[in-house]
Amino acid sequence: TRPGVAPLVQLNDGKQIPSLGLGTWLGFSKEGGLLPVVDDSVQRAVEAAIDAGYRHIDTAAIYETEKQVGTAIQNKIAEGVVAREDLFITSKLWNDRHAKKDVVPALRESLARLNLTYLDLFLIHWPIAQFANGTYDETDYVETWKGMIEAQVLGLARSIGVSNFNAQQLDRLITMTPVKPAVLQVEVNLNLQQPELIKFCKEQGIVVVAYTPFGSLFHSKAAPDAPPPRTDDQTLLKIADKYHKTVAQVNLRYLIELGVIPIPKSVTPKRIGENIEIFDFQLTQHEKDLMKAFDRNYRTIAVPMWMDSPYYPFHKK
Ligand code: NDP
Repeated sequence: TRPGVAPLVQLNDGKQIPSLGLGTWLGFSKEGGLLPVVDDSVQRAVEAAIDAGYRHIDTAAIYETEKQVGTAIQNKIAEGVVAREDLFITSKLWNDRHAKKDVVPALRESLARLNLTYLDLFLIHWPIAQFANGTYDETDYVETWKGMIEAQVLGLARSIGVSNFNAQQLDRLITMTPVKPAVLQVEVNLNLQQPELIKFCKEQGIVVVAYTPFGSLFHSKAAPDAPPPRTDDQTLLKIADKYHKTVAQVNLRYLIELGVIPIPKSVTPKRIGENIEIFDFQLTQHEKDLMKAFDRNYRTIAVPMWMDSPYYPFHKK
């Protein structure tokens, strides 16, 4: 088997996580719902990623891509490209399974879809609990976290963590339960650099995984009101030219140098390869200062429809 391209990062529970992963969420449709999974593009993306040297794959029950991720993993193991132990597979608990007693059963369902016996990392997707019909459930995420600890004790998840929690919510888990999250997965990109939250996590020994790492970089994806930069930004183009890299690669390298783990999503083999070829150059302090100036505290995933939840994690606009 081949070692991955991305160096490993130490977690606070003794395990290690590759410093870059592949995202597998297909995104929102124009109408605002989740884009339906209509073909095998995620399976092919995961296969291309493993061939390109990815060893870390990010999925979630709500993405409906776990089955395809599982098929790709089985194929690459059967071909002898990787062994299960080489891979780091993350999935997430959806909002309607927050009751403590529901966590292990929900994880077992994810494992069945993935055709795996354990996850490397299981995350509470949001601090917000909802019933299946979308109404709010008052279940405190601290109770949910106790279910996550059970899953880890059973060996079904080697590491456990959370996503979309703010510092106060993390602090409640740290002070009220015996197990500290290994990972916080949140949005981090040029427009949302999260300096305070990253500093807090560093002090606590919690590794930050950066979702939506490209933010509004691509014209095709950016909302009309999204702040700059786009891929035609002169500052970014100049840095990219210097290293013979693309603006997308410079963007990802900047996140590596912030000390976070980007999980770029692509279903395009050429881009999948491009996104991991970022471990052979380093930005100067001046270049990092130029890129820091793009921070606008602008969120692409603000979930305003959940603002009334008692556990809404973000600043209310
Ligand atoms: P990303 O920032 O990863 O952007 C994905 C988009 O960028 C796709 O349209 C993709 O196109 C395009 N793209 C990727 N690489 C390149 C490239 N090199 N050049 C040009 N275009 C490129 O957005 P996501 O929101 O998907 O975030 C990444 C992952 O983070 C998700 O897939 C998911 O796994 C996770 N996530 C977690 C959340 C959470 O709540 N915990 C919330 C949101 C995301 P194409 O695929 O067509 O190539």
